[in-house]
Parts: sequence; C-alpha cells; structure tokens
Amino acid sequence: MERATLTIDLSALVANWRALDAKSAGETGAVVKADAYGLGVPPVAKALQKAGVRTFFVALASEGVILRKVLGAGPRIFVFSGYMKGSEAAFAGHNLIPLLNSAEQVSRFIADGAKACGLQLDTGMNRLGMEAAELAGIALHIPALAPQLVMSHLACADDPVHPMNAAQLAAFHSMTLALPAPKSIAATGGILLGPPYHFNLTRPGIGLYGGEPFSEARPVVRLSLPVIQTRTVLPGEGVGYGMTWIAKRPSTIATAAAGYADGLIRAMGGKAVLYAGETPCPVVGRISMDLITVDVTELPEVPPELEILNATQTVDVLAGAAGTIGYEILTSLGGRYTRRYTGGA
Ligand SMILES: *Cc1c(COP(=O)(O)O)cnc(C)c1O
Repeated sequence: MERATLTIDLSALVANWRALDAKSAGETGAVVKADAYGLGVPPVAKALQKAGVRTFFVALASEGVILRKVLGAGPRIFVFSGYMKGSEAAFAGHNLIPLLNSAEQVSRFIADGAKACGLQLDTGMNRLGMEAAELAGIALHIPALAPQLVMSHLACADDPVHPMNAAQLAAFHSMTLALPAPKSIAATGGILLGPPYHFNLTRPGIGLYGGEPFSEARPVVRLSLPVIQTRTVLPGEGVGYGMTWIAKRPSTIATAAAGYADGLIRAMGGKAVLYAGETPCPVVGRISMDLITVDVTELPEVPPELEILNATQTVDVLAGAAGTIGYEILTSLGGRYTRRYTGGA
C-alpha cells in the first residue's frame, strides 16, 4: 500500500443519523456541505438518502449542483449562502432552494421570478441572516414567497448552559410567531438541547460524522498510514526538521506516509500518537509535508500500517492534540488518501 487509507464506515454514519433522528421531534435533515465534512458527498449522501433523509443542506449552490446529481430529483436541497450573485442559474437548473439571508437577496429572488425559497434569520450570532428590522421590511412579500423553511443558527449550542441558547430561542420565537412556514434552529448541538429547540426540522452535520458535541456518536473514520521504513536511532541523535526530538535511548523510529499536506496539521507533532493495534506510539519530531516519524521502540514487531484515527483516537481526541476542533480535522483530510467505504449496501 503506497498511500494512506481513510476508511469511512457508512453503517456508523447511518446509525448516527438514526440516533439523532430518534432524538429529534420533527423531521431530521442532513448537512453535507464541504464534501460531507471531507468524507465524500457521493457515498455519504447516497447512504443517508437510503436511510430516509429527505432534506439536505449545503453551503454553496455549486455544492448543491454536485449533490443533485448524486441524489436525483426527489430530496430537497437547501443552500445556506442563499441567492448569491452568479449562482442564479444553479438554483433554477438543479432545483436548489436558497435560504435568503438579506432583503437584497429577497429583492433579486423576486425580480428573477425564482420559485422555491427559505428564509434565514439572525437571532444573535451576527453571522448570516436577516435581523428583526430587516425581516419586517420584507414582510409584505412573505405570502408570495411562501418560504418552505424559516431557519436560524445557534452560536453556543455545544455549551448547554450558555445563556445565548435561551436568548436565541426566544428571539426566534418572537421573529417567527406570525410566519406561516416550517421552522428550524437546531444543528447537532441544538438537537441535544432538547425538544424546545427541535421545531419542524433539525440540521445535524458533525454528529453524523462521529464528532462532538454528539458524544454518543459512533466513530465513522479510521485512518491508517503505511510505514515506509524503520531505522535505529542512537542516544543523542535527532529526528526530523529542526532536530526537535533527541533520542535518550537506542530507539526504533518508523516513518509513515502522510503529513500536513494531508491534513495532519503540524501543530499535532509531539502530542498525537499513532496506534499499532491497541498500542499507542508517540509522534516524535516535527510533522513534515508528507511524512510522520513515530517512536515504535516498545513494539515487539512493527506493523505495515499505523493508525492515526480510530475508535480510541477519534477526530476530537486528535483535534485536542492539535489545538483545534473535530470539524477542522475532518474537513482538512486531504485528497491523497485512498478513500474506502464500508457498511454500504
Ligand atoms: C454547518 C451548519 C450546520 C450543521 O452544524 P453541525 O454543528 O455540524 O451539526 C447547521 N446549520 C448551519 C446554518 C450550518 O452552517
């Protein structure tokens, strides 16, 4: 095996969607933006569609075009960035639904005679969506727009005791009270906050892919790196760029085939481990672009491959070593891996 192998367990993905669906009061959609958080839209979206997902979300219209080819005509595809200039043809041609996020988008949408839409409201995150005054300004048009969804997004849903959650929920209620449309405010974190946050439709992303804050999630990814060579390093000798690690004992060092160009970001050097079966082996020295060096002295035998993501070192554990979040580990996973899908039908 020349390249590292990223194994994606589609049955774990589907089990995670079912578990979040069981917690959601209404319909449960699926967020597959950024190529399904780096795991590959075609197999991921097909597996979710087969499991019963009828509503998908992407960030960009161009992602929606790709997704529509994968899904066929049936499911709804909402686009978070809304009706962006230059993307108009994608909406009409591929039956995508923009989540209109400003009065300016609403005006262009109406002027173009475009059809299906949703509305995106800002309830305090100050990122995307119309605030109360802007919504009031377009209120006249809402009956004709007949939005399929009115949605907002929570800023602090991963922290159940954060006062922003209740504040945004109250703002969402008051802004949508008079709006005759299905409603949605919960992503993964919002589902876990409980039924008051569920409304008609939930929008989980990270929880499907095995990440926090859905701590009951089944791990979805496994990443194994082939060992290219091993060598003995004597006490006092260093390893890697900058010689940041110096052997204190005669050591066996394995060099594995992936690096920061593959999303194994440099900051995890010195903190992450690679697994030989159940045995953790420390990364030593700096992670380079295509290679990682690992101290395998304790192993009776060096296996042909070492794992950097598995059921023990999950995306969140690895993120902790790198000072980031599981979302960034997943969406950074590079294009050089052989992607292998298991558990699909
Ligand atoms: C990315 C995103 C989601 C999914 O969030 P997760 O935390 O991954 O579940 C839902 N809604 C919006 C608006 C998003 O941008």
